[in-house]
Amino acid sequence: DDSKPLNFIQQIITRDLDEGTVNKVVTRFPPEPNGYLHIGHAKSICLNFGLAAQFGGACNLRFDDTNPEKEEDEYVQAIIEDVRWLGFQWDGEIRYASNYFDQLYAWAQQLIREGKAFVCELNAEQMREYRGTLKEPGKPSPMRDRPAEESLALLEQMKNGEIDEGRMTLRAKIDMASPNINLRDPVLYRIKKRAHHRTGDKWNIYPSYDFAHGQEDAIEGVTHSICTLEFAANRPLYEWFIENLPVPSKPHQYEFGRLNLNYNITSKRKLKQLVDENHVDGWNDPRMPTISGLRRRGVPPAAIRNFCDSLAVAKTDGVVDMAQFEHFIRDDLNDNAARAMCVLKPLKVTLTNVPEGEVEMLSAPCHPNRDDLGERQLPFTREIYIDREDFNEDSSLSRKKFKRLVPGEWVRLRGAYVIQANDFVKDDSGEIVEIIAEIIPGTIGEDPPEGIRPRGVIHWVSATECVDCEVRLYDRLFSDPSPEAGDRNFLDFINPESLQILQGCKGEIGLAEAGVGDHYQFEREGYFCLDSGYSSADKPVFNRTIGLRDTWKS
Ligand code: ATP
Ligand code: MG
Ligand code: MG
Repeated sequence: DDSKPLNFIQQIITRDLDEGTVNKVVTRFPPEPNGYLHIGHAKSICLNFGLAAQFGGACNLRFDDTNPEKEEDEYVQAIIEDVRWLGFQWDGEIRYASNYFDQLYAWAQQLIREGKAFVCELNAEQMREYRGTLKEPGKPSPMRDRPAEESLALLEQMKNGEIDEGRMTLRAKIDMASPNINLRDPVLYRIKKRAHHRTGDKWNIYPSYDFAHGQEDAIEGVTHSICTLEFAANRPLYEWFIENLPVPSKPHQYEFGRLNLNYNITSKRKLKQLVDENHVDGWNDPRMPTISGLRRRGVPPAAIRNFCDSLAVAKTDGVVDMAQFEHFIRDDLNDNAARAMCVLKPLKVTLTNVPEGEVEMLSAPCHPNRDDLGERQLPFTREIYIDREDFNEDSSLSRKKFKRLVPGEWVRLRGAYVIQANDFVKDDSGEIVEIIAEIIPGTIGEDPPEGIRPRGVIHWVSATECVDCEVRLYDRLFSDPSPEAGDRNFLDFINPESLQILQGCKGEIGLAEAGVGDHYQFEREGYFCLDSGYSSADKPVFNRTIGLRDTWKS
């Protein structure tokens, strides 16, 4: 959108290109493979890939796989699938921080040789104590001035697994009195006797985020390294490494505000807890704010992109209203979802003037203004289903209040005849189990004769030519707008009624062909998709992506 004012990162890039300090923009999306991507990551993905596309540059996909404790190949594969599904293509090969471990190690040795790093033997608690506070400067480690030869030898032993975990770290020698605590001799390597999902047993030490990230950017020629605000105080350290190492390029870090969505959590750690403790049905549960959950729920990738593009790229964190996201979901589905009819709570209607066994093939457009989506067949038969809520035995209900079927009156069946209800049947418990009605002949696409006034239009399906299905309706996973606020335990705010399963629903016959990734508007019921997890060949399961209208109460 050319009419939109440039955000602050676009302004910086424009300036860098104009001044010639940058020739080709290179960005990167750097997930740590310790969980699945969520809607917050989508903002970073859209931003990084979007900037590269806008300025004719490139965007890398790089796994920041520097911590084997929490990382797994399952997450790597899921992240690749999610980025691709969102519609983005990274430049060249997928990158891995672990591919640079040898280079990082060599650079660490160089810092030691130049007196800029040392092996420290303070334990975690002592290190905290020596580091000082915001008000008080830190104290130098007693090992700060040990000879480089000694540190080099110890680092080698750390790497080879000869030192116990927690006994030693490699630290940069910067400034223990710096007002920025990140510069008080930060840790570059720690011992982790852990196999890595890519490097196996080769390493017993792993680089810290700070020592790895900027150098990875520099190796890849990243020009604009965009991260979230919480890393602002790490920027001087990012720059210190770039200045003190013979890196092949000089990237710059810029920070923008995280995306937080109300009624949701956007923290991989907490999402993982929901999965691990079985509060949800896996990372791709349709109620999860993960990319895979949104996909399974039926949210189109374009809706996620349009939503992310609508968000401010600012230097402050903010909370975005779910209603804003939902707006983009409805907007896309309204334009693109094929229309279909599905009766969620079926009530049988017998049309006494339609001969038994007769099937009249009616057809209807798949979309009111998308001829390209074609037409669908709607078999019309003597027995049909309408929704229980579309009939009321009380014929004194005013036409205004109840625009549906009552005894003695008429409704139009969507795309078919006007019908009149003549009678109804109750079972022993008093529940209505069948309606006896008749069609008004000649009313397909035509007004009924004088004096016949349908109360409204309702959806229906043939009872003999239909698809039996299960429908899953979702509500918010959290019942409170800010489940993470303050010292709250987000688990206390899980909505116990976030999933409602309806069995025995009846869909129009064409829904037998529904495939994963197809979107439907079930008329009058909302937008739906085939569930990729629970559907089987003889019983499709449909997820409601979202209702038709905004029922949002703010
Ligand atoms: P989490 O706290 O959920 O674990 P993270 O920031 O640790 O998230 P990473 O895998 O490191 O997760 O994130 C990859 C990229 O996505 C980073 O550049 C990060 O800044 C960005 N990102 C993560 N969460 C958000 C968010 N809520 N809004 C915008 N960008 C985000
Ligand atoms: Mg991170
Ligand atoms: Mg994290």
